[in-house]
This record gives sequence, structure tokens and C-alpha cells, in this order.
Amino acid sequence: KPVIIIVVGMAGSGKTTLMHRLVSHTQASNLRGYVMNLDPAVMTLPFGANIDIRDTVRYKEVMKQFNLGPNGGILTSLNLFATKFDEVISVIEKRADQLDYVLVDTPGQIEIFTWSASGAIITEAFASTFPTVIAYVVDTPRSESPNTFMSNMLYACSILYKTRLPLVVAFNKTDVAQHQFALEWMEDFEIFNAALDSDQSYPSTLTRSLSLALEEFYKNLRAVGVSAVSGAGMDAFFKAVEASAEEYMETYKADLDKRR
Ligand code: GDP
Ligand code: MG
Repeated sequence: KPVIIIVVGMAGSGKTTLMHRLVSHTQASNLRGYVMNLDPAVMTLPFGANIDIRDTVRYKEVMKQFNLGPNGGILTSLNLFATKFDEVISVIEKRADQLDYVLVDTPGQIEIFTWSASGAIITEAFASTFPTVIAYVVDTPRSESPNTFMSNMLYACSILYKTRLPLVVAFNKTDVAQHQFALEWMEDFEIFNAALDSDQSYPSTLTRSLSLALEEFYKNLRAVGVSAVSGAGMDAFFKAVEASAEEYMETYKADLDKRR
């Protein structure tokens, strides 16, 4: 069975660029990938998609028809697509023997996928049929500020709560800034504390206590540094995905079977 990799992250974190990189990496490594675009508003895709939401719903038409702004248009397009998602699953099921990975790109604005009914329906449809892993993409250079880092980690944590699926954090754009600092901050509270040290503002005090609260989350996290642009970190990324797929089998799948 193929492993589903759902790529999520803040707008501009590099999801689509990373998708492109993952697609070329799988092709170059003789891994059989199936590629899906769930962003109805993307203008041009840098990679070829086997399934593209834009072939089924025209987001500009949806905006006009329902009198919506851009975000409402994207959300409604995703809702319309979600109603037909059983067809998508059966298409993949038919090819399951010939696939190693299914790569899924999601809309630019993170909450449209992670905080909507249709996002949940799509995620659960995948996860009830195939080993499914969330790849949470982080803009590393923008996370060099401890408070921004913390808000990114809290978002990752909320996705873990919502999906209960294994999560791989991909610190992207390591060609611009190495992710070593982030690993150190997660491993050692004192180092993170030192980065905040001079700052006694309320947000920084809060960030300090949140960091302690997230220790358990950090411990169970798989974090890798990647660059969608240079291609660095691809082997580590796929290794983390494989370990996450095993975790899926041991925890999520076992849980699902119990509930059935
Ligand atoms: P998305 O909104 O998450 O899909 O983000 P995009 O893939 O559209 O990328 C947003 C911006 O970040 C674009 O200008 C990309 O060229 C840039 N970008 C993405 N990945 C990388 C990377 O690894 N390194 C660098 N330097 N820029 C990147
Ligand atoms: Mg994108």
C-alpha cells in the first residue's frame, strides 16, 4: 500500500515548491509516486499532478456563483471536491499495488485545510484506507525569532491533536538558514530560554512556559531540515516518513481497527 504524505504549512512556507522537489526526488529514486493538488487557487503548478482539484472545480466560478471572496471561494471549492472524495480514494485503491507514495499539496492558507470540515473529511478518508503522514512545512529563516518559532510549533501541535496522525516537521529553506537552532531549541529548554533571555515582555514570558509544556510534543516529533530549492535533506525526509508510516500502523491503524 502507498504511504500518503499530506503537505501542510503556513502560506509561503514552501509547500508547493517542496511538492515539486518530492516529485522529482521520487522519480529520480525509482519510487512510484502519485501526485495530487488540492489547492484550487494555484495559478501554475511547477509539477505534473495526476489528480488536480482545478480539473473538477473552477474556483473563480465558485466565487461568482456563491458571491464569495477568495478565501470563501477556496473553502467552498474544497467542500465541493470533498463530496466526491470517495471516487479519489477508489482511484488510488485500484493503483495501490503500483504506488509507493501519494503526495498531496494543500491550499496556501493553512486553516482552509486544517481547520475545515472538508479538510477533516479528506484527511480521514485517506487515513482510514492508507498509512497517512502529515508533513508540516516550516519556513526556517522566518522561525529564527523564538516567538515565531513557538507559534509555528503550537500550530503543528494543534494539527497533531486534530488529526492524531504521525507528523513530520520539515524545516524548509535550509539553503537560507540552517535548522540546527530549531533542533537545539526543542532538545534543550535552556538554550531556547537563553535565546529569549533579554526579553521580559508578556509574549516572551508566555513563550518560555509554553516551551516547557511542549517538551512531550517535541520528544515524539520527527524533525528534519530540507531545502525545496537545493534538494538537501530528501533522504532524511523520506526516512522520517517511513518511520511515521510504521507508527501509523502501530497506533492509528490499531486504534481504528478497535473502533470498528
Ligand atoms: P506555499 O504557499 O506553502 O505553497 O509556498 P510556495 O511553494 O509557493 O513558496 C513560497 C516562496 O518560498 C516562493 O517564493 C518559493 O520560491 C520560496 N521557497 C520555497 N521553498 C524554498 C526553499 O527551500 N528555499 C528558498 N530559498 N526559497 C524557497
Ligand atoms: Mg502552494
